[in-house]
Amino acid sequence: MAEKLYRDEAWLREQYIINKKSFDEIAKEQGVAQKCIWKWIHRYNIPVRPMGSHRVGKHLSEETRLKISQSNKGKRRSPEFCALISSMKMGKPNPSAALPKSPEHCANISNAKLGKKIKPCSPERRAKIIAHNRHAGQPKESHWNWKGGITPERNQMYYSKEYQTWRSGVFERDGYKCVKCGNGKSGVFRAHHVYNFSEFEHLRTNIDNGITFCYKCHEAFHVTFGYTHNNLNQIIDFLLFY
Ligand SMILES: [Zn+2]
Ligand SMILES: [Zn+2]
Repeated sequence: MAEKLYRDEAWLREQYIINKKSFDEIAKEQGVAQKCIWKWIHRYNIPVRPMGSHRVGKHLSEETRLKISQSNKGKRRSPEFCALISSMKMGKPNPSAALPKSPEHCANISNAKLGKKIKPCSPERRAKIIAHNRHAGQPKESHWNWKGGITPERNQMYYSKEYQTWRSGVFERDGYKCVKCGNGKSGVFRAHHVYNFSEFEHLRTNIDNGITFCYKCHEAFHVTFGYTHNNLNQIIDFLLFY
């Protein structure tokens, strides 16, 4: 397709919002991959409809309905797929939030929501949310992890090659496991300075001065021993008695 119409914002908006075409339909018509349409929709911040909602408002024959319902029976999204979707959504503000909504857009949204019940929040989930937000509104100084504001120096250090090398060196030496609880899941590790960062400048990138904790044990350590005057005795205490 020489014209690459999908790169034209107005055209793309018309196809997707007004004509209610799906990524798939637009991609097929343009002879490109769905991913490509997805990319341009995001680039132009076009509000994305929930999956499958392009069918809303279209009349399906009884036969088609039956086919769809049968083919969906027992299907579950794989964990990888769910992870992919959530990673795509992560950190992205809702693109529709800031945009003024056209009457068609409002109609689209209300169509998409039609017939969907909002799940009530379970008590467990509610407790989780409250626990997560418990520091909201409190002065930042009261948070256990408040370190008086990250200094530019500290910030710069975290992004430096030396620090990154130190960090991965510590993880590697400890076999990618929390030294306290043995948690070995990727992404949970924190490299903790035995003698703390701010007071022992010469030990900042010394691998012997690092220890691998998971984020939970790391939090527990600092809740117990604070952030200043950290030393090896505290580590031994923590490993043996906590
Ligand atoms: Zn630490
Ligand atoms: Zn741990």
